[in-house]
This record gives sequence, structure tokens and C-alpha cells, in this order.
Amino acid sequence: MIGKPKGAKGGGRNRPEKIHQTIDLYPQYCPNCNSSLTELKAYFVYDRKLTDLSREKDEVGAYGVLRIRNIQQNIHRRKCPVCNYWVYPDQGLFKNARFGPGLVAYIMTKRIRFCMTYENILEEMEDIFGYEFSVSVTEIIN
Ligand SMILES: [Zn+2]
Repeated sequence: MIGKPKGAKGGGRNRPEKIHQTIDLYPQYCPNCNSSLTELKAYFVYDRKLTDLSREKDEVGAYGVLRIRNIQQNIHRRKCPVCNYWVYPDQGLFKNARFGPGLVAYIMTKRIRFCMTYENILEEMEDIFGYEFSVSVTEIIN
């Protein structure tokens, strides 16, 4: 992240309060020896919350509408019986992201297709979704 976000309000951004979806993540196999871990007991380690955008059917199922979703991921670990090594679920690229792939893709599309500035994209999204994106631009592209 480059410098302090401009226009950031004191006290930081409101954390997502309402959770729309909870996902439990488990490691499926050991990356070291490839043993399957699916039958083993899993231990909850921590949870993380991220904000994503998803396309859903509207009330009458006629149109796809974009909705902001706060997702809580529960991370569980399992111990590989062969390596005696704790294995965590693979969270890929979005391991430390506060924003899900749907939201990032949406912003990138606007950026590339319409050559909008990140500031304008965020403003427009606040209008559409009624959600306060008091986030810095660098947080999204990082
Ligand atoms: Zn192993």
C-alpha cells in the first residue's frame, strides 16, 4: 500500500456487520505428501470476513441482480498423519483479501471498459448498492 489513503475517515471503515453467508473451509489433501485428509477431524482456527459481489436472481427470478455480500469464512486445519504437519485450506489468491473475486472483477471491468477512475467507480457503486466503500484505491488493486 502506498502512503495513507486520502480522505480516510478517523476511526476506520465500518466493518461489515451483517453476514450473508458462512463458508467452512477445510484442507482436502496434504500439499507435502498428497495424502487425503478428508476423513480426518478438523479443528477450527480462525474466521475471516470478506465483501464480495454476486449475481443473484431477483424476487421473481426474472433478472439477475448484483448484490453486495458479506461472507464469513471459517478456516479449519487438519493434521497430516504421514507428515505430522498442520495443513490449512488453500485459499489461493484471495488469502488476505478483504474483497472477493466478484467485487474485484466488477471494478476492473469498469476500469478497463469504461476507463473510469477508481474514485468514480467507488462513488457509482455506493449509489447502486447503498454501501459505503470508504476504502482506499490501493487496497483494491493490491
Ligand atoms: Zn503429508
